[in-house]
Amino acid sequence: MWPFGLVNLTDTQEGHAVSHTPNYTFASDNTSGLHPEVMRALVEANEYRCASYGEDKITAQAADAFRELFECNCDVYFVFTGTAANSLALASLCQSYHSVITHELSHVETDECGAPEFFSNGTKLLTTPGLLGKIDPAAIEHAVNRRHDIHYPKPRAVTFSCPTELGTVYRPDEIEAISQVARRHGLRVHMDGARFANAVAALGVSAADLTWRAGVDVLSFGGTKLGSMASEAVVFFSRELGEEFAYRCKQAGQLASKMRFLTAPWPVLLRDGRWLQIASHANQMARRLRAGLEMISGVNLLYPTEANAVFARLPERAHKVLREAGWRYYLFIGDGARFMCSWSTQPEEVDALLKDIRSAI
Ligand SMILES: *Cc1c(COP(=O)(O)O)cnc(C)c1O
Repeated sequence: MWPFGLVNLTDTQEGHAVSHTPNYTFASDNTSGLHPEVMRALVEANEYRCASYGEDKITAQAADAFRELFECNCDVYFVFTGTAANSLALASLCQSYHSVITHELSHVETDECGAPEFFSNGTKLLTTPGLLGKIDPAAIEHAVNRRHDIHYPKPRAVTFSCPTELGTVYRPDEIEAISQVARRHGLRVHMDGARFANAVAALGVSAADLTWRAGVDVLSFGGTKLGSMASEAVVFFSRELGEEFAYRCKQAGQLASKMRFLTAPWPVLLRDGRWLQIASHANQMARRLRAGLEMISGVNLLYPTEANAVFARLPERAHKVLREAGWRYYLFIGDGARFMCSWSTQPEEVDALLKDIRSAI
């Protein structure tokens, strides 16, 4: 990956001739472009001058759209990446001597290069195991009760991803169970919703039911994987927890001066359930892929397909054939190959992948 500009060299270094143009359709949901409605909103936002640093009308509209969606007077901030959203949110919940309980496979633990620890000046992540990528309330209890002395970083928050890194989705009652343990021990609750839309679309519940009504204090709500350019909302359901958060964003280099380009897509996406239609499409493509894979002998499906990810174990040699055919996907998350669908995934592309997997096996 680094330095930029060596993509093709990397391909040949791995010893495979590059016979096809690399196809990133299923590599991640951030390999797709901007949703046309996002693009339209950005073009529109480009047609005038306005106040900077979020003091503009569009940003106010975006924040109001979140308040309407969540049916509460939440406090909303916008940052460029999910890593920033998660780590700044967690930093705002903790002092440096605190700890945050999280699943061992969570993005904050495995994919943020220590940013949560960095932005909180040392708050330690305490990892716990749990089935299907989900944090187990009993494991939270265990992490809290393991030690109570001054030599152990004091647990102060719990964070979990919904959907999880393994594509599973927590139901509101499961989140409620996490929150109850958290409340009992004075922990704040943060949800990493990089794919929050896919979770809400999958469950058919309200955004409020999946968050603050189930005890979530702070949510990182992902716009990028949904189809935006670089926009993640940090939503504080307890306003006092968000106090001074704007300073934290600014200090971390996350306060956009041309804020309207982060915020203009949101009112459009949140209007009339557009965000849910987009996420439902991605989820549906994942279900189509799963149904196809279930028909291929030699493929082992790994976890329930509840959102837009499909995990499967394929015979080792199939990966080489698929790679030569151009397909790119991750092999280091979970136990097998991860195929991710997005707003832009087309049924014909799912069928083309299935056809190539069939012939590779
Ligand atoms: C993509 C993702 C993020 C955000 O990642 P960035 O690359 O920092 O934008 C956070 N959490 C999860 C679970 C993700 O999949």
